[in-house]
Amino acid sequence: MTPLNDRKLLNIIRYAPAVFITIFAVVVNVILIQSNQVESEEKIEFIRENLIEQQKQAVREQIQQVSNQIEKQKSLTVKTLEDQLRSRVYEAYNIATNIYQQHRDKPKEDVVRMIREALRPIRFNSGRGYFFIFDREGMNVLHSYIPQLEGQSVWETKDVKGSLIVQEHIEKVNNSGGEAFYRWWYSKSDEAPDKHFEKIGFGKYFEPYGWYIGTGEYIVDVQADIQKQVIDWLSDYRYGNNDYVFVIDNQGIIISHPEASMVNTAVSDELGVQIDEIRAKDSDRSGFTHYMAKYMPGALNGGEKISYLKMIDGWDWTIGTGFYVQRFEAYLAENIRALEASNNDELKRVLYASLISTLIIIALSLKLGRVIGERFNRFQERITKDFNELNQVKDKLKYLAEHDSLTDLPNRLLLNGIIHTGVDYAHHNQSCGAVILLDVDDFKKINDLHGHSSGDKLLKTISRKFESILGPHDTVSRFGGDEFIFCFPALTDEVAAQEKVMLIQQVFEDKFIIDGKVLTTNCSIGVAMFPRDDTEPEALIRKADVVLYKSKAQRKGSAMFYNSDVNEEIQLDYMIEEELRKALKGDEFKVLYQPQVNVESGKIMGVEALARWNSPRLGPISPVKFIALAEDIGVIHELGSFVFRKACEDILSISPNGPEALGVSINISPKQLMEPSFPETLVAITQEVEIDISRVILEITENVLLEDLDTVAERLNSMKSFGFGLSLDDFGTGYSSLSYLNTLPITEIKIDRSFIEKLLISEQTKTLVKAIIAIGESCQMTVVAEGVETMEQYNELAEYGCNAVQGYYFAPPLTINSIGELLCSKLQSGSESS
Ligand code: C2E
Ligand code: CA
Ligand code: CA
Repeated sequence: MTPLNDRKLLNIIRYAPAVFITIFAVVVNVILIQSNQVESEEKIEFIRENLIEQQKQAVREQIQQVSNQIEKQKSLTVKTLEDQLRSRVYEAYNIATNIYQQHRDKPKEDVVRMIREALRPIRFNSGRGYFFIFDREGMNVLHSYIPQLEGQSVWETKDVKGSLIVQEHIEKVNNSGGEAFYRWWYSKSDEAPDKHFEKIGFGKYFEPYGWYIGTGEYIVDVQADIQKQVIDWLSDYRYGNNDYVFVIDNQGIIISHPEASMVNTAVSDELGVQIDEIRAKDSDRSGFTHYMAKYMPGALNGGEKISYLKMIDGWDWTIGTGFYVQRFEAYLAENIRALEASNNDELKRVLYASLISTLIIIALSLKLGRVIGERFNRFQERITKDFNELNQVKDKLKYLAEHDSLTDLPNRLLLNGIIHTGVDYAHHNQSCGAVILLDVDDFKKINDLHGHSSGDKLLKTISRKFESILGPHDTVSRFGGDEFIFCFPALTDEVAAQEKVMLIQQVFEDKFIIDGKVLTTNCSIGVAMFPRDDTEPEALIRKADVVLYKSKAQRKGSAMFYNSDVNEEIQLDYMIEEELRKALKGDEFKVLYQPQVNVESGKIMGVEALARWNSPRLGPISPVKFIALAEDIGVIHELGSFVFRKACEDILSISPNGPEALGVSINISPKQLMEPSFPETLVAITQEVEIDISRVILEITENVLLEDLDTVAERLNSMKSFGFGLSLDDFGTGYSSLSYLNTLPITEIKIDRSFIEKLLISEQTKTLVKAIIAIGESCQMTVVAEGVETMEQYNELAEYGCNAVQGYYFAPPLTINSIGELLCSKLQSGSESS
């Protein structure tokens, strides 16, 4: 997987929202279209059902209306019939009443006959209607239709249902205030005598003779009339879209239909079955049927039809009306088309709205993405810039930490790495390398003489020159104040290293012109080779340092390579160092004393205390070695104090304080002198030992003047003020200027034995020694010559006016006891000579 880099992230931020919105919009729109489709299908289905339901409702209502109309017609017609019957009977009653009243005086038989004659011929209702009269006993008085029945009793006459029709008639009329309607069953004798039909009749009581005048009508006859009227009405009846009502009788024969050819034809079996089902119902004998109709307007073979049928009770009729499915479907299709069109319009509007809003959102999100992207870019640029600046600062700080601010060379911190790299390089290239440690000789002197700024400039100039001699793999670093380390990793052998050393030394052959002054200087060099001498940077530096130290100790301005001899010496040095630490505690140090003889008196005027160490393990060790070592490892203070105390004690033991008292010169290391509490420590010891401070001379080598001169001067002044004598040791060897002699409180000069050695050989030395003695004299300093081995030397020095001499010519360093003895004999000899 590739990592999500900033550019990719940026692109995602920029474009992802737009992509998501597009996908979202597409999904939403697809869902919208789909749901719209489903919805429209549901809607169509709903419309279909609804329309069917509406249609059904319409046809049912239609049938309900028609049925109500028929019922109304039915009842209205019976009522009209009853009114007719009543008015007929009233007519007959009036006739009878008129006749009776006109002929009251006549015999009853005549009046009866007249009434009979008047009523008998009257016919009505298409000739079917006639009057009848019977009296209270059920005797038939008049029967226009069957006159044979007149004079016979009809009291017991029953109809087919078993009702005593006359008795019931009389009872009903009596109970209803003289007139009443009633029904009964009677045959139509001319058609079918066994067949009985219900009749409706009206009767009225004719009081004068106790008669009941009545008439009646067969209901079927009236019903047929009504039915005919209804059929006529229904044949022409239309509603809605030229829809019609059909009527079927109880035999399944169509009795009313707008299409004349359909009348008197039987319905299809399919419809017949459904009609039977409706007829078989207990109540509400109506319902829907679905069948292939034989007839459909405008179609040859009829069509599928849904009809609502209802039974007309009492008539055994089935009336019905319906709608043709094919026509309905056409109507529905029209509706659906309209619906779909409006649906599509709506969908289009929604899609347009969605498209436009999506485009707007996409545009906005792209815009926003771009703004964020630009902001992001700016942030990134700023961060990158800040990081770069930070890195630059970091690099700079690192550079500063790893490079010397003065010379711009790598410093100690980088050195180990550099040497490591060099060692690796040599390893991989089968070469060898050199770590060259260089120390600028007497750099302190230059600083003191010409000032630190000149010293700094000299170091810079030297550094640039060093850089100019470097090859591609070589480096030079500043190791410390005036110390530099070269690393040459691409050498073939030690000879090549020597050539490099010579190149370096050549740098110092030229004169340096700093601040208009001409400066000359030199260098000491220690070299360690890798991998021969070591491969560890620190070890290589240490080894180069060791040989540098050695070379410096031997002769300044020389170069020395590390080798196994040096190594042995170093091993020995280590051993000495180890033993030295133990020696102080183990009381291994002794102090010997070398007499100093006054030239004028020939007497011993003092002794120089010289430390001796005879190591039980290593044998006698030179003080030159162990003193230097003690300085290095920091035990010089302890050792110095020991020697100082011992010398004071020893000298006091052989020579008490007093005017004749013997002086004692004690060597003081510069390291001791620089210790702030040094003067007080010495004073304290002299007080403990109780030796006169004026007897003690402190020997300080010229080298002490290389230290911080102000401190040295202050220390020496304070020593002087305590009363110590101060002797400048090894005078002439080191770096000493005669000017010091004036500024420092020196009481004595010791001419170095190297001058005494050459005194009789070199005229120049002779002149020099004479000059030193002269200066000493002029400065009121005691001049002591050391290393006097011969009488000739002694004589020469005596001649020049040297104050005192010290050397094997008189005595080597001796034990205090030997000094004591010598003192006695010298005193003797001194007393002898005097
Ligand atoms: P130095 O102070 O110059 O001491 C004189 C050295 O010259 C002594 O060497 C002494 O034995 C030697 N010497 C004396 N007369 C003659 C002579 O006629 N011919 C020759 N060739 N040499 C002569 P030593 O004892 O080996 O001491 C060497 C140096 O060690 C001393 O040089 C001194 O600088 C230092 N030293 C010795 N003892 C002490 C000490 O207790 N403290 C300190 N700080 N340094 C000491
Ligand atoms: Ca000395
Ligand atoms: Ca000396």
